[in-house]
Amino acid sequence: VIEVKDLAKSFGDNVVLKDITEKVEPGQVIVVIGPSGGGKSTFLRCLNLLETPTSGQVAFEGQDLTTLDTKSVNALREKMGMVFQGFNLFPNMTVLENIKLAPMKVKHTDDATATKTAHELLQRVGLDDHADAFPSSLSGGQAQRVAIARALAMNPEVMLFDEPTSALDPEMVGEVLNVMQELAKDGMTMVVVTHEMGFAKSVADRIWFMADGYIQENNTPDEFFANPQTERAQDFLSKIL
Ligand code: ATP
Ligand code: MG
Repeated sequence: VIEVKDLAKSFGDNVVLKDITEKVEPGQVIVVIGPSGGGKSTFLRCLNLLETPTSGQVAFEGQDLTTLDTKSVNALREKMGMVFQGFNLFPNMTVLENIKLAPMKVKHTDDATATKTAHELLQRVGLDDHADAFPSSLSGGQAQRVAIARALAMNPEVMLFDEPTSALDPEMVGEVLNVMQELAKDGMTMVVVTHEMGFAKSVADRIWFMADGYIQENNTPDEFFANPQTERAQDFLSKIL
């Protein structure tokens, strides 16, 4: 679904991504882990061109995003749902309205269809009883589940997650990871930046270990955690496990 070739990204003199060539296959769950500042968020943002790569290519479904005009990029970006650490729900809209907004505005879905889909998605994340609530009344875990439902409302081909649970109180992490695990089970293609190693071990098809601007290891979770190949990964794992 996504093919990255020779991707590099600098902010001024700060070379954040040096040379990344990887593929995400349909249905795969990729978990990206690595030390803080290693470029994980920048990499994820390059995948949907929220950041413009300094060089290299990012192809989505065979189309090189770096060569497209803004309109075409926006069209492709709709197929990539993104969930961040902060929930970014619109505070002046109910949960239901938050979810209906993009499909109605961007895809011109009619109200009845958008409402029906929104309720289905809320059921999927276990929150249909909160459809008419405002974001301020939700817990962090609930808000993040709404954010996931909102991203799913655009019917994306791929979901990108950037540390979706790291702003949450510990007791709410599980409910969000469960929703993500269900998504994975349903066959969603996902790229997930997370520090949740339990999730990485049980849900990921591949672990990409990113540090110093490179993906230093690309391996199955079993192999990666049992047998990290690089000193950088060994050092990282010794600090977090
Ligand atoms: P963390 O685990 O802390 O989230 P990360 O692996 O996601 O870290 P990035 O956020 O991608 O790392 O940051 C990598 C580097 O890029 C850092 O040195 C950061 O200061 C720099 N950087 C990121 N975004 C920008 C920006 N918009 N402008 C300038 N520098 C940036
Ligand atoms: Mg980050």
